[in-house]
Amino acid sequence: MTVLTGVCLCGAVRFEVDGPFERVSQCHCTSCKKISGGTGTVSGIAPTGAIRVLAGDEALRTFQPDEGLAKTFCAECGSNLFGGGWPESSHSSVRLSALDSPFDQKPEMHIFVRSVAAWETLPDDGAQRFDVRP
Ligand SMILES: [Zn+2]
Ligand SMILES: [Zn+2]
Repeated sequence: MTVLTGVCLCGAVRFEVDGPFERVSQCHCTSCKKISGGTGTVSGIAPTGAIRVLAGDEALRTFQPDEGLAKTFCAECGSNLFGGGWPESSHSSVRLSALDSPFDQKPEMHIFVRSVAAWETLPDDGAQRFDVRP
């Protein structure tokens, strides 16, 4: 087992997660574009119990969009940290952008490719593609 650590941009929130992730996926949905400021989120999926917030619990804010699963960010700096319904769901997403441990596992799937933007180029990386989610 590998323990990966993560931190938000301002350093208020620190967490760790037991690896390896069950899978790594990139989500291209419109919500993930809004929260990421880019083409979407890239996440490792882990059992929610494998994610431990070490510091900054009080800085965490969770937003529940009308459609899709809750997304959690740091209220101080806006860094997107968790998704997939954390902390209430059985499995949650950990944004790879928040990790500070070395990590080189590439996304094995692109989900919500129906929402790829006109300004976005889907990489030809051999990863499986799903219109919504598998
Ligand atoms: Zn922060
Ligand atoms: Zn998404």
